[in-house]
Amino acid sequence: MEPIMKGKRGLVMGVANDHSIAWGIAKKLAAHGAELAFTYQGEAFGRRVKPLADQLGSKLLLPCDVEDSASIDAVFSTLKDEWGTIDFLVHAIGFSDRNELKGLYANTTRENFIRTMVISCYSFTEVSRKAVELMPNGGNLLTLTYAGSVRVMPNYNVMGVAKAGLEASVRYLANDFGPKGIRVNAISAGPVRTLAGAGIADARHMFSYQQRNSPLRRNITIDDVGGSALYLLSDLASGVTGEIHYVDSGYNIVSMPALEELKS
Ligand code: NAD
Repeated sequence: MEPIMKGKRGLVMGVANDHSIAWGIAKKLAAHGAELAFTYQGEAFGRRVKPLADQLGSKLLLPCDVEDSASIDAVFSTLKDEWGTIDFLVHAIGFSDRNELKGLYANTTRENFIRTMVISCYSFTEVSRKAVELMPNGGNLLTLTYAGSVRVMPNYNVMGVAKAGLEASVRYLANDFGPKGIRVNAISAGPVRTLAGAGIADARHMFSYQQRNSPLRRNITIDDVGGSALYLLSDLASGVTGEIHYVDSGYNIVSMPALEELKS
């Protein structure tokens, strides 16, 4: 049988290092035959991402800061020159000032609210619009979200508000681009120890609590996310769009702590 992503090309945005969720996704896509391009934010990350991109045989490694529209335009113009078309886009980008990922949400500043929204929410809409120009025969867009969008998670604060906006964007974009045969989905991942995850105060408590109280009694890995991303980005999910797909060991379905936790 042919590898399911054979002949498919796509852009992966958001690898910072080999702990990144985007890296888990990239490895899985490449293992199933996809050809990948990567973006990185700034030269320091570029030096870390280069050997990873090389490892997967990627020849396109491009700088991109999503706060700068010109840098987004440059990425898609290079992709157009090099490949002409793409089949998928992975957006695994988020940022907020870590000083506001603790304490009360009510204290979020106007400046950080706007910056968080632009980087963590609007950037998906902007890159999607550009990606779709390179998808004349249909395609797939995928972003990463977290359940702090729909329920209060301690210290997640303005990131929760941005993720709520991001999830709504997934639905609107799915409706905008559906007639072109382009699917748009999000994976809502459980907590993973990454650079971005480390910015949230007391994250280790969230991590161990979800490990003890999710139905699978373990935290997820970037390989778990990679498997679900492969499904959503492949033709296996051909009828699925506008979906927020949880990859969280089932944590989102429970309404109270595990009995062993309560009895301990
Ligand atoms: P990570 O730190 O490895 O990746 C975050 C990426 O965002 C980095 O590559 C960083 O360079 C990029 N980024 C930030 N600001 C940017 C900008 N202005 N321009 C371009 N890139 C920028 O962490 P991660 O946990 O793999 O995060 C990936 C995505 O997964 C994020 O959207 C995050 O919110 C989401 N997510 C993370 C978790 C978790 O527990 N780690 C859970 C659910 C969802």
